[in-house]
Amino acid sequence: MMSDKPGNPTNVNLPPQSAAPAAPAAQPAAHSDANWGDFVRRCDDCRNCDLGAGRTNCVVWRGALPAPLMLVGEGPGAQEDLEAKPFVGQSGQLLDLLLQANGLTEQQFHICNIVKCRPPGNRQPTEEEAKACRPLFREQFLFVRPRVILLLGATAYRYFTGRRDGITRVRGQWIENNGYFIMPTLHPAYVLRDNRQRDKIWADVCAVRLKLEQLGLLAPLQFVPAMPQGRKKENN
Ligand code: SF4
Repeated sequence: MMSDKPGNPTNVNLPPQSAAPAAPAAQPAAHSDANWGDFVRRCDDCRNCDLGAGRTNCVVWRGALPAPLMLVGEGPGAQEDLEAKPFVGQSGQLLDLLLQANGLTEQQFHICNIVKCRPPGNRQPTEEEAKACRPLFREQFLFVRPRVILLLGATAYRYFTGRRDGITRVRGQWIENNGYFIMPTLHPAYVLRDNRQRDKIWADVCAVRLKLEQLGLLAPLQFVPAMPQGRKKENN
């Protein structure tokens, strides 16, 4: 059972088919620029599913490493495939706007996707593709060592948790799993299509910010964040 109140997480065991690692590493991961670089090279060489054949680039990450906050989407789109970075199209611009308005910059988060290669026509990744990419995702997770995870949209929620609940039902509710705090929210592309949903993703980003502060991972904000109304930073 999940909590129906934000900020009141319920500790749950996620099913084995979830992408979530079993528990935080007791020791810091053996992270170095060299072994991270080796990991990225292995991603670039990967052809473990059919998506590898159609990509321009393997899209691994942007942001910080390690990072207290990990944001997870479903897969790269056209712009991401071209630039080899996740969430750099219109959805990413909206997401960055919401994060920055909450004092969250690329120094505080690491962003990636369930699959690293673009599904044709921006379709959802299949079960087989998500499963094929899961070992790389789990390895990346252990490099990042987040405590708080924001799942962007129904597909990321489904493949990360192994659950199939509707995203509109579960968004805004914390899941606590083995010391990780997991927040499902709407995909920013959904908010771009229906701006009436903006207050919901904003509330979830605010809850994530507060959780990072409560865990002592970020200093409290010195201002009251206000929900931005645009789609991207004015100077973008
Ligand atoms: S999506 Fe993942 S598993 Fe499939 S080819 Fe790309 S990196 Fe490999």
